[in-house]
Amino acid sequence: MIIILKSGVSDEQIEHVIRRIEDMGLRTHLSRGTYRTIIGVIGDEARLQDAPLGAIPGVAEVIPVLPPYKLASREAHPESSVVDVAGVKIGGGYLGMIAGPCAVEGHERLDQIAGAIKAAGANLLRGGAFKPRTSPYAYQGMGEEGLKILRDVGDKHGMPVVTEVMDPRYVDLVERYADMIQIGARNMQNFSLLTEVGRTKKPVLLKRGMSATVVDLLMSAEYILSQGNPNVVLCERGIKSFDTSARNLFDVAAVPTTKGLSHLPIIVDPSHATGRPDLIPACALAGVAAGADGVHIEVHNCPEQAMSDGPQALLPEQYAKLAATIKELAKLFNKTISALTPS
Ligand code: PEP
Ligand code: MN
Repeated sequence: MIIILKSGVSDEQIEHVIRRIEDMGLRTHLSRGTYRTIIGVIGDEARLQDAPLGAIPGVAEVIPVLPPYKLASREAHPESSVVDVAGVKIGGGYLGMIAGPCAVEGHERLDQIAGAIKAAGANLLRGGAFKPRTSPYAYQGMGEEGLKILRDVGDKHGMPVVTEVMDPRYVDLVERYADMIQIGARNMQNFSLLTEVGRTKKPVLLKRGMSATVVDLLMSAEYILSQGNPNVVLCERGIKSFDTSARNLFDVAAVPTTKGLSHLPIIVDPSHATGRPDLIPACALAGVAAGADGVHIEVHNCPEQAMSDGPQALLPEQYAKLAATIKELAKLFNKTISALTPS
């Protein structure tokens, strides 16, 4: 950590800063320049994490050298992590192909969609049983009945399943049915929920909040990792913007940015990022080309009857076309798509 002192700082103030740091068990190195004096702090920076050093008289700026997301950082773990979701690998050269309807709506419907996306090359089935809706009057999901259907259809097609949990009280329930637990954008900073999923053994799909920075996303991942669950996959799903031409602003630069800062896999969700089927293929491919470890896409076989997010759903045939192009692109980048065992 580097502490920059205010110009005109007095010798007593410098002495006081040094004493405060050394009292906390760290060493200091004082450097007096022509215009500015700085103090280098030597030792475990984590000890100072909560110390309000900026409040000490004479201190102008405190610059940490290590990121606050210690476990998620690439410094701590230079190799890219691979997350294994019931046999399907994501990260470190493996692409996750997550697809399915926004919500689980019934057995037959999900069965048809699962059959189609599996044939197209998807390796993880998604579907929400608890839906975070902006309106309390909108469809809220089937709850446990939806989880049972998702598990059953996933097993029938030999596909691991991913579904969202919104409430810390339901983490145990969702963990029983899901192979991967999704934390949605609206709950990215629900710290009690992050702590609860961090205590499970299941891989977690952590979506970026719509107003969250990349560092906010990594700090949320840190909550999960710090509870002992190392299996976190991040997801760029678009952020709020002034432009109303798409549902959100797809931040493709977040992919390489995150990869530079963290060893965790990151996938893209062009469905929620754009809200527009005509934009989804281009953004999915851009995400993979930018280094994403997978693609999360909503697919429905009758979007006009979908209970949620119908207007952004790809038809199974549109998904199949896109998945074929993703496979070609993956080859170019030496990436592999984990195969499913035939069922
Ligand atoms: C979803 O995956 O259906 C969903 C609600 O996503 P997000 O949290 O990114 O809006
Ligand atoms: Mn959705």
